[in-house]
Amino acid sequence: MTESWEKKLSCATQCNRCHQKLGQKDQRILSVYDHQAICMICKKAEEKRPDYEAVFRAEIGQCLIDTELAYGDPGGYCFYHFYPFTC
Ligand SMILES: [Zn+2]
Repeated sequence: MTESWEKKLSCATQCNRCHQKLGQKDQRILSVYDHQAICMICKKAEEKRPDYEAVFRAEIGQCLIDTELAYGDPGGYCFYHFYPFTC
């Protein structure tokens, strides 16, 4: 979780899972499994994984704690795991 995450992840030019190209206006979201930018189709698939709920809850909880401690602002990075965003 570095300061460069935003540039690296939010403006990813392709889905990290299926390698579909992502344009600047295409919505993307961060995977709760590997924190890479993925397309909405892959996110839907991820949500169907049997352990998704547990992983999601654990990751987001820890993310909020980590970023709040590190930056005093839990927004952005963590929320990008559950709100789609564009570049
Ligand atoms: Zn994809």
